[in-house]
Amino acid sequence: MTSSESGASRTLMDGFGRSISYLRISVTDRCDLRCRYCMSERMTFLPRDQVMTLEEIAVITERFIARGVRKVRLSGGEPLVRRDVVDLVRRLGRHVGTSLDELVMTSNGTRLAEHADALFDAGMRRINISLDSRDPERFRFITRHGDVAQVMRGIDAARTAGLRVKINMVALKGLNEDEIGPMLDWCVAQGLDLTLIETMPLGAIDEDRTDRFLPLTAVFERLSASHELVRDHAGSGGPARYWRVGSSRSRLGLISPLTANFCDGCNRVRLTTDGKLYSCLGHEDRVDLKRAFRDGGVAALDTAIDDALISKPSRHDFQIAHGTAPAVSRHMSVTGG
Ligand code: SAM
Ligand code: SF4
Repeated sequence: MTSSESGASRTLMDGFGRSISYLRISVTDRCDLRCRYCMSERMTFLPRDQVMTLEEIAVITERFIARGVRKVRLSGGEPLVRRDVVDLVRRLGRHVGTSLDELVMTSNGTRLAEHADALFDAGMRRINISLDSRDPERFRFITRHGDVAQVMRGIDAARTAGLRVKINMVALKGLNEDEIGPMLDWCVAQGLDLTLIETMPLGAIDEDRTDRFLPLTAVFERLSASHELVRDHAGSGGPARYWRVGSSRSRLGLISPLTANFCDGCNRVRLTTDGKLYSCLGHEDRVDLKRAFRDGGVAALDTAIDDALISKPSRHDFQIAHGTAPAVSRHMSVTGG
């Protein structure tokens, strides 16, 4: 038996008996927007020589697939600002339908009009698109310079290409809270799912996130007073909890790391732009897979993956309060949201 075969027979199980079947990858920490809750205006990005090459991302991901990962999400930063990302999708897309159930992406949508067809042809079937406001001025304010019409064209192009679209919306106190109900109505009218997300204390930004923190417990109470929401357990197991919206095709998802801990069922690990594997979004523990692979090839990669899984923490310890430092210093864009 070769070392790679013996590695493949080692399943991905953490020290708490949780089986790992989902890999999220930040393919670039760069972005064409500067959402206020995500990045500071003058964000410093990783030097290019620290970023994994396409080949390194592909080999590491294929190692995870060989060891039992069934779902891969490409994220960032904005994955579509990376020039070779469609080549990566094409390479990983070859596994979809056999050793991989799904290859998905999270995108801000600004470049989707150009890439949607190619993504579909390469094997992608679903995409999450961030849309924190449909109001042009507000969108521009939240993203610091984004054009919502461009994102709308991206959403249309994705749907026309055949991609299933889910909208992600970060709930922001005093910024878009009055738009949450209308956003749900719009998603229902369009036949789209909507996931609301609580802002998480990841990386320093130019403001205090606590000022914008909106607990989804309160949002949900308001939404249930105006919408018929029926708990839907299908497809759960990740951090989101879902509700069917009336008799529509749409589902409402809530990701509430601050008000409802979801770590017991955690099935995921995250690979950063510079090749570090984080077994938990909310901790600093990491293992350098890029270095392991460069120094020792696939055998060293397998050992490093095992090390990361053994040290996966039981849960995140996110707290949000005025004057407290972010739970971890790295931004969501480095870890891949
Ligand atoms: N650029 C792409 C986008 O915006 O969809 C992908 C990367 S972005 C980091 C992925 C998701 O994380 C987006 O839905 C974004 O709104 C969310 N996000 C970013 N920073 C966050 C934070 N501090 N707390 C909660 N969600 C955050
Ligand atoms: Fe860019 Fe996405 Fe972060 Fe907005 S949330 S700045 S689009 S990475």
